[in-house]
Amino acid sequence: KQKNRFDIKHAIDSTIEIIKAQLKDENINLQLDISENILYGFENELKQSLLNIFNNALDAIKSKSKEKDFEKYIKVDSSEENGFIKIRIENNGGKINEEIISKIFEPYFTTKFESQGTGIGLYMTKSIIETNMNGKIEVGNIEEGVVFTIKLPILKGNE
Ligand code: ADP
Ligand code: MG
Repeated sequence: KQKNRFDIKHAIDSTIEIIKAQLKDENINLQLDISENILYGFENELKQSLLNIFNNALDAIKSKSKEKDFEKYIKVDSSEENGFIKIRIENNGGKINEEIISKIFEPYFTTKFESQGTGIGLYMTKSIIETNMNGKIEVGNIEEGVVFTIKLPILKGNE
């Protein structure tokens, strides 16, 4: 495992490449607005974390669309806040029940059936972002779904 400098926009774009075909198949509108920022850390692990968040969003949207028709979307945007980049990943696949929202980062917590979920994804995601990359991840409910907010330190010009 090696740390390197990388552009967060590039990391997000290449992760989205992996789910592009699924977005099209499911007719999900992707709204992307990420600015270029250089970070330092474990790029591949971070991409794995982002992929898990996107896969969870796809799962949520897919299961909601079994019940009703709606304008599906995944929205990813970023902003800068005192030395950190703040990335918001939002989807409208339904809210997370208030009783379980505090548990989703725990290892082996899943609401999916055995073959579909292991419950290890968000546990890994949180440890990569917070322990390995000195960042922060939070979850919250919005109008028709969920938003994950990730903060990661930006590399300064002289570093
Ligand atoms: P898994 O995907 O294997 O279930 P995760 O750790 O990735 O495990 O997620 C844990 C749980 O958090 C999921 O089973 C689901 O209940 C909930 N969850 C995560 N992301 C979302 C989301 N975008 N919308 C709704 N529920 C979510
Ligand atoms: Mg998952």
